[in-house]
Amino acid sequence: MNKIIIAIDGYSSSGKSTMARDLAKRIGYVYVDSGAMYRAVTLYAIEHGMASAEKGVDTEALVKALPEINISFTPAGADGVQHTLLNGKDVEREIRDMQVSSLVSPVAVIPEVRHRQTALQQQYGREKGIVMDGRDIGTTVFPDAEMKVFVNASAEERARRRVKELTDKGEKVTYEEVLENIRERDHIDTTRKESPLRKAPDAVLLDNDNMTIAQQMQWLLDLYHSKCPE
Ligand code: C5P
Repeated sequence: MNKIIIAIDGYSSSGKSTMARDLAKRIGYVYVDSGAMYRAVTLYAIEHGMASAEKGVDTEALVKALPEINISFTPAGADGVQHTLLNGKDVEREIRDMQVSSLVSPVAVIPEVRHRQTALQQQYGREKGIVMDGRDIGTTVFPDAEMKVFVNASAEERARRRVKELTDKGEKVTYEEVLENIRERDHIDTTRKESPLRKAPDAVLLDNDNMTIAQQMQWLLDLYHSKCPE
């Protein structure tokens, strides 16, 4: 059967990554989390004194350092989770913390950062058979993707899910700070000049406020089978 490219875009913490990863596992495709790549660049910037809550992001220094930032992924383990590697080091845990979350959107507005990640993401898609989630996958990275989904849920519901995810991992966060971070990222992601978050005209909208994970998976599988009949 011909393999296709599946682009899943949407707002922060809308559950995109979980559904993209589960779908890839189910249909035997490769999953790529493009947000993890922007998070890894942000972690590098923090660790090298180029980004902080007090001073913001030193764009010039970060752009200069881009050739030194190598991002890759381990193959998915038995749980289907891939780990992100920054210059060979497993940073999967660090890239999910609140410090990275609060600086990643300002890093992701930098055109040079975007161009580099986009080129890498396009390489991953060369052979098709890929599910990639992010903000600009259906609009900029793979405008010709055969299946495009745009996921949304209310900011409050997304904050509730994110708090649960972070507290399950042992991080101490409040609902208010997570909600504020989500609203802030939504604002930066939708209003930036380069590849802003928006629904591609040919993307199918999935509003998952009141859907279980099983219902979302069925919805995705139905759409996939309509594109790729067996
Ligand atoms: O998907 P995730 O929430 O981990 O993404 C983190 C941030 O990376 C987003 O808030 C956004 O600023 C940026 N991003 C992006 N383009 C993508 C994926 C993520 O700008 N394709």
